[in-house]
This record gives sequence, structure tokens and C-alpha cells, in this order.
Amino acid sequence: MAELNLSPPAVPTGGKRIAVMTSGGDSPGMNGAVRAVVRQTLASGGVAYAVYEGYQGLVDGGSMIKEMRWEDVRGWLSEGGTLIGTARCKAFMERPGRLTAANNMIEKGINALIICGGDGSLTGADKFRSEWPSLMDELVSTGKRKEDEVKHHRHLNIVGLVGSIDNDLSGTDATIGCYSSLERICQSIDYIDATAFSHQRAFVIEVMGRHCGWLALMAGVSCGADFVFCPENPPSENWESEMCNIIKKHREMGKRKTIVVVAEGAHDRQLNHISPTMVKDLLSEKVGLDTRVTTLGHVQRGGPPCAYDRMLATLQGVEAVKAVLESTPETPSPVICIVENKIVRKPLVDAIARTKEVAANIAKKDFEAALKGRDAEFEEFLEAFNITTATDKSGMLLPPEKRMRVGIIHVGAPAGGMNAATRAAVAYCLTKGHTPVALYNGFPGLCRHHNDKPLGSVRVLDWLDAETWASRGGSEIGTNRGLPAEDMETTAACFELYKIDALFVVGGFEAFTAVSQLRQGRQQYDAFKIPMVILPATVSNNVPGTEYSIGSDTCLNALITYCDAIKQSASASRRRVFVVETQGGASGYVATIAGLAIGALAVYTPEEGIHLNMLVEDIKFLKHSFATDAGHSRSGKIILRNEKASKVYTTELIANIIKEEAGGRFDSRFAVPGHVQQGGTPSPMDRVRAVRFGVKSLQYLEKFIGKSKQEIADDPMSASVIGIRGARVKFSAMEKIERDETDWKDRRPKEEFWMSLIDVVDTLSGRPKACRTP
Ligand code: ATP
Repeated sequence: MAELNLSPPAVPTGGKRIAVMTSGGDSPGMNGAVRAVVRQTLASGGVAYAVYEGYQGLVDGGSMIKEMRWEDVRGWLSEGGTLIGTARCKAFMERPGRLTAANNMIEKGINALIICGGDGSLTGADKFRSEWPSLMDELVSTGKRKEDEVKHHRHLNIVGLVGSIDNDLSGTDATIGCYSSLERICQSIDYIDATAFSHQRAFVIEVMGRHCGWLALMAGVSCGADFVFCPENPPSENWESEMCNIIKKHREMGKRKTIVVVAEGAHDRQLNHISPTMVKDLLSEKVGLDTRVTTLGHVQRGGPPCAYDRMLATLQGVEAVKAVLESTPETPSPVICIVENKIVRKPLVDAIARTKEVAANIAKKDFEAALKGRDAEFEEFLEAFNITTATDKSGMLLPPEKRMRVGIIHVGAPAGGMNAATRAAVAYCLTKGHTPVALYNGFPGLCRHHNDKPLGSVRVLDWLDAETWASRGGSEIGTNRGLPAEDMETTAACFELYKIDALFVVGGFEAFTAVSQLRQGRQQYDAFKIPMVILPATVSNNVPGTEYSIGSDTCLNALITYCDAIKQSASASRRRVFVVETQGGASGYVATIAGLAIGALAVYTPEEGIHLNMLVEDIKFLKHSFATDAGHSRSGKIILRNEKASKVYTTELIANIIKEEAGGRFDSRFAVPGHVQQGGTPSPMDRVRAVRFGVKSLQYLEKFIGKSKQEIADDPMSASVIGIRGARVKFSAMEKIERDETDWKDRRPKEEFWMSLIDVVDTLSGRPKACRTP
């Protein structure tokens, strides 16, 4: 297993000739994968090839297999689709086609093949690999090749990268392209939402996914749909009345609009296809709603990749090359996967077998097994969706003595997903019989109320209050940077006044600090001897205890859109470098990941600081860069500088120094996107994770029901942070994190998982090591 923390790519290659191809349906991010493979191969001293038009190119050979230079993939990160083309190739399905393909590879001396595609493409790859020795024998026995020529090709190195919008491969949480596709879907549903609301209409939206309901389910979770149809989890036998009842109930509860998402492969438990038209007819006739159908079609595949897909494609492309370099004839061919936040290699054969098993289980109508075959996330999302849309609470309500009054509070700056998390928490509370108590405008809001100033800062929420919050940016219950320590006594009195039994805190480093203060305040105030969970939410992603905060993905998307526009302007004027200032407080996370996602020339972080020598070396690098790619149509260059990277070398100063030193050879400008980075509408990833973690947090708080105040105070886990740590979602005790893992001075975790990714940014931009020497 390889960690996300990628080490510098100094692995000797022994003259590897690595070819990369894209195959099957195109997906956003494929170009980023090709770029990463090509550049990582070259940086490791190998020779890189691109096979054009998928397996067809491999069968056709000749100019369809092209050697790639460094500049050939410049600017590819931000392009949608696949620039090296893809095709469905019949010839490769048969042995003679594969024999020709093998011969063409030997012709070019290629000894490793990295394939980015869906399960079909990877199945083909696996077949090719298993057949390879016999293909070599046949080439020799039929006189096409001499033994000498195949001697060094007896072993074929194959690595799979999963490029598919469906997210249908078992073993990986995400495929390259699925989050971009989800963005496209959610954007469309958000637009439809507005008109549905205006006219009180119902919309039935068909999304892609013949065998996999990931897109449908995630779209349902992110957009607050009323009902979702996915192939792995068909609705009950009497789904018609079940769906109509839920939707009727939602309308009775005051909802003005209805959204139903249908995967194209939806069916009932007898495998009879459920079409959007069938759903529409039911809604029109049985519920009496003005209902329309929208089929999103190929827009779902298109457009530029989102930040996450660019990062995933880049890190996986790099990992694929490393897997090639480290492989031996005994190593099973890997497929590069991601589990939560960890890039891992898994045996390709197993992943394909498990994927096929899901399809077989669906065909056998064993839906429970089919669901198990998807990753753990899938079931959790399904549960979260069901909880947020439930109308029949029978069987879910807890007995009265187990019900809690859960305080919900937002602390710090707004971040995408805060409202989605709150909506999920409210729905969860109501489903289980708890009372969701919103503490408006953070701790100062709470305390103001107690002092008899304006009322209304504490309110019990009902389902409809929060129902429309799934996709909203900002903070509907208001957020504030104020900390409880500003008035501990009043805070404690308010907790008692409103009978808060458990606390769900959503926010960034301030929220973390607030919970730390409350935890420590337990010594003096019994009111704080309640379970508390913080769900990290901040664009800076600097909360200790997690590698991911909701809101950070929205920020990265806003930043890359901004940088793409700037890059275009910079490349139109050919000779310009932009120095862009990013947010992130004293954490260089945003700068670094955005750097990976846009292909920045360099990133300047507070962790490393900026030194004169760095600037001198980077200017040399820039001069070299502009000299070697003069006239290239995609030569816009960007340096990302975190806002706190240096007190002296400001963004403007760096741009001016570069301009001065360029001596007219090129120009330099600076740009500060500022609060644009908080984003407008939260990204689907932030929304779905907010829902998943929101529900998990509430379930976690329930574990303390029935415990005495002292038992709670004595249990370090009763004040926790929910977070992603490597391959796991975990609750970690505040006490330990505060003590061992927090850099309080710089307001960030002591160990930041992404630090080594600066090396990847550098390797892929060609930046020499000397540029990082202080
Ligand atoms: P998508 O997720 O878009 O469906 P995919 O990779 O599953 O992508 P397919 O059309 O199934 O797309 O496969 C792409 C190509 O891979 C096929 O045209 C064929 O050339 C090759 N391929 C697929 N299955 C096999 C197989 N069993 N044996 C050999 N080659 C195969």
C-alpha cells in the first residue's frame, strides 16, 4: 500500500518505456492523468508514449503510438474529455487484435502500459496481461519476432487508473471524473430547483449510471431530492405508493417543490425497468403534481474537471508510474485506488472480479450483496439520504428518556457545506425524536440572548426550516468568530437555560478552539459535561484531527476556476507569469492542492516560507521556461503564494521582482482572489460529506445517552473531532489532539499530510530542487 504522502520521484527507471492510454467513455480528469504519467515518466528518466484512440491505437500502431515530450502535455490539466482520444475497439476483444497490439508495443520497445478507463477497459487490460506470455510465444513461433526481440518483453507491466464518471469500480471510493460529473448534475438540479420552487412543480431527473447508482444517490444527497432510484438498491415491492406517500407527505409538510432522481439503469426488485416517464405519470396522476422530466444526457460527461478530479488524476498518474518502476514479474498488476484520503494500489484482478460480482448480484436480485460490493461510503450515504427524507418515523424514534436536546452552532468564517451538515443534523434529530436547537450567530449570539438583548438567537428548528439548505452557501444559522472563553459563565448559564444535552459544532480552527475551551471549562461548569463533536468546516483545511474539512473543496474549485481564467489571459499574451495569492491562514494546503490542480509553476507556503534564494532560483527557472516554450499556445504560468507565506515578500513585491529581473523577456502580474475562494454554492463533495459526517456525528453523540455528567466528563472521547485520517473516518479525542497534534501558534496541525505533495507540484512543473533551498 502506498501513502498519499508521495516521496520525491528519484526512482531509477532502468530505461522504462511507459505508454499511457485512455479508453472507454471519456471522463473529466483523464488529461490530468496523462499529463502526470508523461511528466513523471520523463522526470524518472524514462521514455513516455501516448497511445491515441484507446485500444484501437494499440492495434493500429505506427503514428497512433506517439512519443511524448514534456511540452506536449502543457495545459492539459484543465481540459475536459481526453485529448489523446478514446474509442471502443472490437478488434481488441479478440486474440488476433491483441496479438497485433502486442507486436506494435514491441516495435516501439514499450514495456509498461498504463490504462485509464472503466471496468471494460481494465478487464481488457487484465486479459492482455494474462495472455501476454502466450502472445510472445506466438509472435516467435509464427516468425513475426525473433526470440532476441521478445527477450526483454517477457513480462508486461500493466497498471490501471480508473477513469469513469459512473464511479462503478469496487475498491476505490472515487474514479477519475465522477466528482466532475456530479458537479455538472448538481449544477443542473440547482437550476431546475429554482424553477420547480417558483411553480411548485415536480421534476424527474434522469442521470447516467446503467449499473451503478452512485451519481443518482450522490445527486439526491447533495440536492435534497425527495426520492432516488438506483440499481443496487431498488425500492420496495410497492414502490409506486411508497414514493407517492413520501412525496405527498413532504408537500403536506410545506415543501413547494419535488425532485426525484432516476439512474438510467433503475429497476424494481423484479428487475423491471423504472423509467422517468413512469415516475412522472405517477406524480402527475396519483399526487396531482405538475411534473416534468429532464434527461441530462451527455452534459454529464463534459466540461473541465473539478479540482478534486485534477488532484486525483495527478496523484494517481504519479503513483501509477511509481508502481511500474517498482514492479517485479511477481507483483500482481495493480489498479490505483483512493480510500478516503489515501492513494492505494490494489490487485487489478480482484477489483474487476468484485465489480463484476456486483452486476451478477443485481442480476440475481441479491441486492443486499450488491450493496455490500460497493464501498462502505455508499451504504452510509444511502442511510443518510433515507434519514433526511424519512416521513415514516415509526421504528426509528427513540423512547422519550433517550431523547436529547442537541445544540447546533456554527463558529468561525463561513464554509461550503455548513448548511448541508446542519440540515442533516436537524433531519436526523427529528427522525430519532431529539430536539435540534439552533444557537444562532455563534457563541456571542447565544450569550446576547441571555443578557436580555434582542431575542431569537436560540430556536428549535423543524424539518421545513432546514429542508432547503442542502445546497446553500454561507451559514443559515449565522456564524461568529467569538469564543466561549469571552464569557464562560454566561455560556454555561445558557447551556443550562436551554437544556442543551449534546453539542454539534460546525466550523474551523475557532470551532476547534471553542470546543477545547468548553472541554476545559468542565472543571468549573457542569453545563459543559455533555458530549460534543466538532465537524471541521473551513476553506483553509487547517483543523487538527482531520485531513479534510468541509468547505475546502468548494474553495479549491473557486480558486481553480479563477486561475484557469488568469492562465488563459497569461497565455494569450504569451509571456506572462501571474503570482496569485491564496487564502489558507498559516496553512499552505489550499496553495499546494490548487497548485497540483492547475499545474502551478511553484507554490509558496507559510510552512516553508519564502527566501531570497528561492526567488533567485525561481527567476532562473522562469527564464529557462519561457526560453524553451516560446510560442507555445498554453504557456500561461502561475505561482501560488499563500497569504501568510512571508511578511516581507508580499504577492505584489514578488511579481515586481520577477518583472524587474525578467529584463523585458517576460512580464509578471499579481492577483488576489480574496473572498471569492469561499465559493458561492458549495461543491457536491462538500455537501455530501457534510451530510455523511453530520449524520455520523449525531449518531456518535447518541452513544453518550444514559451516562452521568461525571462519566461524560471522565471520558476523553466525549469531546471529539470527526475527521478523515488516511483511509479512515474517525472520531478523535480533543484532549489528545489539543495536546499532541496542534500547533497552536500557527493554528494548524503539527503534521500536515499534504506537505510532501509540494514535491509533486515541483516534479510536474519541472522546477529544480535548488528553488526550494533557503
Ligand atoms: P465506461 O465506464 O465508459 O463504460 P469502459 O472502459 O467500461 O468505460 P467499454 O466500452 O466496456 O468501456 O470498454 C472499452 C474497450 O475496452 C472496448 O472497446 C474494448 O476494446 C476493451 N475491452 C472491454 N472489455 C474487454 C474484454 N473483455 N476483453 C478485451 N478487451 C476488452
